[in-house]
Amino acid sequence: MRIVVIGGGQAGLATGFYLRRSGLAPGEDFVILDAADLPGGAWARMWPTLRTFSPTQYSSLPGWMMPPWTGDSGYPPAAHVVDYLTRYEQRYELAVRRSVSVQSVTRGVGGLLEMHSDRGGWLAEHVVSATGTWSRPFVPTYPGRFAGRQLHTADYRQASDFAGERVLIVGGGNSAAQILAEVSAVAETTWVTLRPPRFLPDNVDGRALFEIATQRNRARQAGEPDSGGVGGLGDIVMVESVRAARDRDVLHAREPFARLVDHGVRWHDSSEAPFDAIIWCTGFRPALGHLTGLGLRGPDGLIPTDGTAAIKEPRLHLIGYGDWTGPASATLIGAGRTARELVTHI
Ligand code: FAD
Repeated sequence: MRIVVIGGGQAGLATGFYLRRSGLAPGEDFVILDAADLPGGAWARMWPTLRTFSPTQYSSLPGWMMPPWTGDSGYPPAAHVVDYLTRYEQRYELAVRRSVSVQSVTRGVGGLLEMHSDRGGWLAEHVVSATGTWSRPFVPTYPGRFAGRQLHTADYRQASDFAGERVLIVGGGNSAAQILAEVSAVAETTWVTLRPPRFLPDNVDGRALFEIATQRNRARQAGEPDSGGVGGLGDIVMVESVRAARDRDVLHAREPFARLVDHGVRWHDSSEAPFDAIIWCTGFRPALGHLTGLGLRGPDGLIPTDGTAAIKEPRLHLIGYGDWTGPASATLIGAGRTARELVTHI
C-alpha cells in the first residue's frame, strides 16, 4: 500500500478526496482505516442538539457542498453533518475499512512504516494520521473530591438528564455555552470559566472566524505582527439557543473555584456551593497514542510538523487536531485546504 490514512472522519475523508483526485485508487493505492463501525467521525458521537457554528455552505469538504439545512432557521445539527459525511464517503467511493483500530505505527522493513491493528497489519510508504481528539476528553485537575455526578462534553446527551438539579458547567468555549444554554432551561446552573467568556457579535459566525484564522496564519508565515481581529475559533458563536439563554439572562460566568468538596465546590473566599452534577466542557487533546512508538512528541505533547509532515519522520503526516497541522485544519471547511496541501506534499 502506498498510503494508509488512519481515521475516517472529515479530515481522513478530505485527504481521501485529494488522493483520489491525484489518480490513486482507494483500496489499492491507499486505504482509510477507521476504528468506528459507522461513518461520521466524532460528529456521530456528539449530542443531538449540538449545532455547527457556521451555515452549511461554510461547513463543506472539498468537491461536494453540504446540502442546505432546511429543518429550521438555524445552523445544522450534528445528525445533518453525519448524514453529509456518510454520503460524501459513498459519493467518492472512498472504501473506508471500518472497525479497524490502529494500535501503533512503527518503522518497518524496506523503508516502510508499519501499522499494527486489531485486524492485522499494513505496510505503507506514507501514513496520514487523522484520528481527531474525541477519544481524549480533557478534564483539569482540581484538589479535593466531588461525590456527585461528573461528566465531560463527550458524555453529554441531553438537558432533560439534569431537570431540577443544581449543575455546575465548567468551560468557556462553544460546547460550554451551548450546553449551558439548554441545561439552564431545566436546571439551576452556575457557569465557571478561566477567563471572561468572549461572545462574538450576533452577525459573526464560523465563516468570519475561519477567515480570521487564515489571515493570522498568513501574517505569521510572512513574519508580520498578529492582527488580532474580532475573535478566534474558540470564541462563542451566538447560535439561536445561546441567544435565547442571553435573553433569559443566564450567560453569567464566574471565576474558577479553589477546590472540589464532597457536595460541590469551595470558592476562593472559602464559601461553598452545593451541586448535584458537574459538566466539564474543558476540551479534548489530540489522539496520538498510536504514534508513541515513533518517539516524535515535543515537550508540549504535540508532534512538531513542517506543514503537515512530522519533522522527525517526514513519511508521517498529521491533519485535523488543531492549527498546528494547518490553519483551521480541525474544522469542516478548513480540513480541505490542509488535505490538498498534504496530498500535494506526498
Ligand atoms: P474525528 O471526527 O474525531 O475523526 C477521527 C476518526 O478517527 C474517528 O472516526 C475515529 O473512529 C478514528 N480513529 C481514532 N483513533 C483511531 C485509531 N487508533 N485507529 C483507527 N481509527 C481511529 N468544526 C466545524 O467546522 N464546525 C463546527 O460547528 C464544529 N463544532 C464542534 C463542536 C464540538 C463539540 C467539537 C468537539 C468539535 C467541533 N468542531 C466543529 C471541530 C471539528 O470539526 C470536529 O471535532 C471534527 O470531528 C474533527 O474531525 P477529524 O476528522 O479531525 O476527527
